[in-house]
Amino acid sequence: MSENASVIYTKCTPDYLEDLEKTIQRFPELELDLRLLRALAKTHDYANAAELKGFDISWDNNNFFQHIEREALRTDKDYVQLLSPINMFEIDLHHVLIQFVGEVSSDEILSKNDFAKQLNTFSSQVQPIDLKQLAEYVLARDFDSLTEESKRFKIPSDVLRYIVETVVKPFLTQLFRKLDDHFLTHWKRPECPICGQIPFIARINDKKMFMYCDLCDGTFWVDYFRCPSCGSDKPQDQQFYYFNDKLDFFIFYCTQCKFYWNAIDDDKLKIPIPSGFERFYLSSLDQIAQEEGLTRKIQVSK
Ligand SMILES: [Zn+2]
Ligand SMILES: [Zn+2]
Repeated sequence: MSENASVIYTKCTPDYLEDLEKTIQRFPELELDLRLLRALAKTHDYANAAELKGFDISWDNNNFFQHIEREALRTDKDYVQLLSPINMFEIDLHHVLIQFVGEVSSDEILSKNDFAKQLNTFSSQVQPIDLKQLAEYVLARDFDSLTEESKRFKIPSDVLRYIVETVVKPFLTQLFRKLDDHFLTHWKRPECPICGQIPFIARINDKKMFMYCDLCDGTFWVDYFRCPSCGSDKPQDQQFYYFNDKLDFFIFYCTQCKFYWNAIDDDKLKIPIPSGFERFYLSSLDQIAQEEGLTRKIQVSK
């Protein structure tokens, strides 16, 4: 749904925060992840309230956004490719980082965790210019360069990736929310139209399958019978596992290339789960999928 740019999208609605609280009670073993999700959502709202939302173009410039939508559909390129990240995020990345550090330090449990120490180590060294470079690595999925940088900041590379994704995420989410229904119906690629990654999570709603990009916090419709990895579209190649004791989730996979993705069936979900929690909710499926010889390795598809 397209959104009037002057309307500020709020993630931390009372319902969202209540769902998070209930989810912490249901999954106490995931409390740290859920608390991080809450710190992230609060940071996200801070970035959304900023006038330019990290972008160097006015969010009211509908001509510009319509032009990008047309270009994405015409060229099959995602927004990150079309907008060239070097021109994005002129402002705010560093402010968002500082905000995230504040949210994590004010959480009594998170603040005692190793992650908080690593986050502080990183934020005390990083310059705005470095942050922009790191954001570019993440958006270009250049994880080798990111690993090199993690040595310089003396933090593990997966932590560095998480932090950089956190500061970039609010802006990607805003771009996703600018997409209109016409665009989303016509986007036929399996990659997320904003960041270009193939998501590993789907949500089934009203018997339709939507890929959920957890970097951009958005969903887009995909064909049940087309493998997002190799592009095979023979219905018999697309199979799934379901679990008798857990009817609300599935592993979908392709018999041709063994690529798999996990799905939540919202029509069968008894208790709603907050957005952003999908990855944790489905994480037990990864071991099963790997034991079955399935993979997340992506082949070139077209
Ligand atoms: Zn995305
Ligand atoms: Zn395949």
